[in-house]
Amino acid sequence: MSRARPEQAGEAQAEAARYPTATVTLQGREITYALRESVRARQPRLWIAPAEGLVVTVPAGWTASQTERFLRQHQRWVLRWDARHARRWQTLPKRWPYGERLFYRGLVHGVQIRPGRVGAVEVAGGCRMIVSTRTPGIDGARRVLRRWLRAQATQTLAERVEAYGAMMGLRPRRLYVRSLRRAWGRCWANGSLSFSAALVMAPPEVLDYVVVHELAHLREPNHSPQFWNVVAAYAPDYPAHRAWLRTHGPLLAV
Ligand SMILES: [Zn+2]
Repeated sequence: MSRARPEQAGEAQAEAARYPTATVTLQGREITYALRESVRARQPRLWIAPAEGLVVTVPAGWTASQTERFLRQHQRWVLRWDARHARRWQTLPKRWPYGERLFYRGLVHGVQIRPGRVGAVEVAGGCRMIVSTRTPGIDGARRVLRRWLRAQATQTLAERVEAYGAMMGLRPRRLYVRSLRRAWGRCWANGSLSFSAALVMAPPEVLDYVVVHELAHLREPNHSPQFWNVVAAYAPDYPAHRAWLRTHGPLLAV
């Protein structure tokens, strides 16, 4: 087996991570899936991708109702997968590694650990991430990765809060980027906002949605219809972003 294989697999997954997501309700369960249109597909197909979870490949030109009918025909299979996935969600260790792959800005990166004089992270082509650590091994790499992700998150979140804040005419009193465990973001009564550093692992549009969500709380401190109207004005695809976080949230941890 050539050395190039894992990188190619990484790229294939990175591509998979870009499919749009959709939802269907089967027997009261809301199922999120990635929808892939393929000109080569004659028949629709269901499969499970490591990064995306449930992927539905449909022939080009298929309508939403054709896709939904196809999913209903296979709902037993889909619901069985969903139940297994939900169990895995609960039992998953809430930290990396998962087969030495890691989400970064929404793409699945293969992680290589190597000894180095200083802790450093380099993002290389082909969705590879090289972690140098003085203490080679998972624990050393995890410390380096956490520090690096937090620095990336702090910079990105400051930029996005500034950009959306300017558009929305809102400005937080202070901005904190933390390793929040139970929330992606939080709006404090004094007008400060906190965000989870793990958001930098999510796709940029998902991070933006959380920024818009927390900024919107500066105007509407609840989840009323008016609140969601404000969110929708700046993040129109927010239901898909919420679905993405529900599906992939547990994997956004180091
Ligand atoms: Zn909220």
